[in-house]
Amino acid sequence: MINRRIFFFVLFILFLATACTQGKNANNFSGDQAYQYLQTLLDFGPRIPGNTGRENAAAYLKTTLEENAWSVTLQDFQFDETPLQNIIAKKGNGDTLIIVGTHYDTRAVSDQENAVEKQDDPVPGANDGGSGAAVLLELSRVLEVPENTELWLVFFDAEDQGNLNGWNWSIGADYFVHQLQERPSKTLIIDMIGDEDLNIYQEKNSTPSLVTEIWKVVEDLKYQSFLIPQFKYAMMDDHLPFLNAGYSTALLIDFDYPYWHTTADTIDHVSSRSLQIVGDVLVQWLSEQN
Ligand SMILES: [Zn+2]
Repeated sequence: MINRRIFFFVLFILFLATACTQGKNANNFSGDQAYQYLQTLLDFGPRIPGNTGRENAAAYLKTTLEENAWSVTLQDFQFDETPLQNIIAKKGNGDTLIIVGTHYDTRAVSDQENAVEKQDDPVPGANDGGSGAAVLLELSRVLEVPENTELWLVFFDAEDQGNLNGWNWSIGADYFVHQLQERPSKTLIIDMIGDEDLNIYQEKNSTPSLVTEIWKVVEDLKYQSFLIPQFKYAMMDDHLPFLNAGYSTALLIDFDYPYWHTTADTIDHVSSRSLQIVGDVLVQWLSEQN
């Protein structure tokens, strides 16, 4: 009888230990899981404003964010009679508002292709339009929002159609900023952060104090060979509408991506390791925002 009790006690302890370990793992950002999210997004095909792929991707983002217990608002609007949609996921009710954003649309044409016959084909958008959204989805799965903070994860439409049919860049982010009622304390934009050969340089239009803050995290995590502590490019991206409105904003982008705006922007050029590195930086940086 006693032996049997001991047996069940040991079984119970083992069960508890397993449950605790699983709980701990669930709080860790997984580059592999982010890569799975990316694969699902790519299965929708090109996500071009107004097309079915973009609509299906938006529905998937909304469902996944809600499954991960975020409250989701769809921001519908039109540009040139094309229906556009930003997706805003919110969590936490502290006083300090932090926004982390990325675009989820993909460019309608591959105008950086050398081969003329491919230049009218859409960009598959594994890195450009896919990687940022995948990292934000994985963040939504694992993130603990700091107590004094309210965090928004925002997926912008129509970043990547600049110079096509007279469209500008960052139409979605621009609309979002003009509708914004609250003042974000900090905004971080990520774009093209999944290249297997990851080289994210400090970006020249970003708010210097925020760049310093993020690269302190990079140094703590010893990731300086992937996020290089040197300024290189000045980019037009979704951080500009925030900067123009006077908000503190930084952009993380790897612009040394040989497949940028080509038909070869495919998942085999993205690595789960790169998604992991950027995820680690974001989780660490966000945990310090209280
Ligand atoms: Zn692009």
